[in-house]
This record gives sequence, C-alpha cells and structure tokens, in this order.
Amino acid sequence: MQKIEHIGIAVKDLDIAENIYSLLLNTPSYKREEVTSEHVITSFFKSGPNKIELLTATDEASAIHKFIEKKGEGIHHIAFAVEDIYSEMSRLKADGFVLLNDVPKKGADNKLVCFVHPKSANGVLVELCQEITPTTE
Ligand code: ZN
Repeated sequence: MQKIEHIGIAVKDLDIAENIYSLLLNTPSYKREEVTSEHVITSFFKSGPNKIELLTATDEASAIHKFIEKKGEGIHHIAFAVEDIYSEMSRLKADGFVLLNDVPKKGADNKLVCFVHPKSANGVLVELCQEITPTTE
C-alpha cells in the first residue's frame, strides 16, 4: 500500500453535499463522474495532497443506497493507492482477507479498484485502487 488515496463519503443529495464540502474545503469539486456499474455518482475534491470522494446512489440497487438506509450518511470507505492491484489482491487473499470482487473493476477517476469486506478490516470498507495507465489497460 502506498498511501491513502481518498476517503469516500456516502451522501443522500449530491448537490447539497457538494455545496457543504466546497465551503468546508474552500475549493470546488474538480470532477463529477457517474459509475453506472456501481449505480453511483461521485464527486471529487482535493484538499492539499488529499482527496475526498462524495458518493450518492442513482437507484436502490446501489450499495450506497443500502449503506445510507442502514447507517445514515457518513464515511463509507478508505481507499489505498497500490502499485500492483493484482499482487495486492493475491497477498490479501492469501492472508485470509475477504475481497468483494475477484478481479479489479473499473472505478471512478481512472482507477482499477477492488474492495475488501468490512468484516475483514474491523468494520471498515477498504478500497484498493491503482491508477489506470496505458500499461495497465
Ligand atoms: Zn472510492
């Protein structure tokens, strides 16, 4: 793991949340992106070297919808940048971590992603992400 890449926050209303976070961080969202496979719309903020990802559900099939129903709005996941997602996934699998997908998926913001089940990490949903470059495609 290289560093925390971003923190994901589940929100009910993206417009309202974008407003709040642009005031809080004193900078506007630099990107909005829908991830249709995940039934979410994301919005990204930079705060110095750090990133915040707001996520809202597009429909009830979304994991974000289920999360908010159960727990309310709030921190949804912590994402770590990795150099080689395939080798990190096999390393974690070998150490008994439960991965939510067997192969990396295309996530928001030009990333290959894989999620680690919260039951494997003391209740925290962990995302591994690797920047997509011409060599990873
Ligand atoms: Zn994320």
